[in-house]
Amino acid sequence: MALIIDGKKISTEIKEELREEVAALKEKGVEITLAVIQVGNDPASSIYVRNKKTACEYIGIKSLSYELPENTTEKELLDLIKELNANSKVNGILVQLPLPKHINEELVINTIDPSKDVDGFHPQSVGALSIGQKGFLSCTPAGIIQLLKRSGISIAGKECVVIGRSNIVGKPMALLMLREDATVTICHSKTKDLKEVAKRADILIVAIGKPKFISSEFVKEGAVVIDVGIHRDENNKLCGDVDYEDVLPKVSAITPVPGGVGPMTIAMLMYNCLQSAR
Ligand code: NAD
Repeated sequence: MALIIDGKKISTEIKEELREEVAALKEKGVEITLAVIQVGNDPASSIYVRNKKTACEYIGIKSLSYELPENTTEKELLDLIKELNANSKVNGILVQLPLPKHINEELVINTIDPSKDVDGFHPQSVGALSIGQKGFLSCTPAGIIQLLKRSGISIAGKECVVIGRSNIVGKPMALLMLREDATVTICHSKTKDLKEVAKRADILIVAIGKPKFISSEFVKEGAVVIDVGIHRDENNKLCGDVDYEDVLPKVSAITPVPGGVGPMTIAMLMYNCLQSAR
């Protein structure tokens, strides 16, 4: 029987640990504050922002909310970030992506002070990760490492294949698995013989953004499969990049969608806020 990795349970465990730590810091007079900026009112972004604020409230982190109109100029947004950078009471700054087309996302990310970059997207954070220095870790990949460790799945020496090379998931994921001593292969849209490469994996991590793309033909018997994708299928049910039902009989462990990787992202964001305050 495959282990169904319970992201909801593990993320709750982490949030409980953080809550205790935040309470202890409060007793010493330290308050943690996260600034959350949303530009426009994309419905999916509004849900993510709301969930982040709810998590802050639960853990005891103060959240400052900036809901800016769609027609906010790039300069107005950059000025706000600079103001928050200079505000010593603010520990973390989060700008919900995607931003409206007229705003340069790269410039926005680069303007956030690296010491407040709780999303881990700033080039300094990514550079630190790649050379093994301390810095904020991108939340979804960091959450996946926690899922594996807290499910008793060892990483060192394992063949790990990451499918997807985005800056926010695939690349930092591969770097983190390397840091944990896995032998890592990164696949992407130009990879030849994807099935053959994927079948080498003891741990297969899928972040391609294509619903149910990975069938059992991509999976080695007994592999651990981590599904990062989030989609709605033809019946409006949530599903991942992996064809869960097809792959399940073959794997030793798998993350479901929903309830796998998803809940971990916010838990790790909260972890980063605390790290910032520490
Ligand atoms: P992205 O679109 O930025 O990157 C997709 C990557 O997949 C690219 O590097 C591309 O080369 C690769 N790819 C595309 N088609 C491929 C193919 N046929 N074969 C091999 N590689 C292929 O996506 P992303 O931001 O990395 O997100 C991936 C998925 O994860 C999406 O479904 C997204 O919604 C989800 N996601 C979930 C969370 C979470 O918290 N659970 C967080 C971030 C992203």
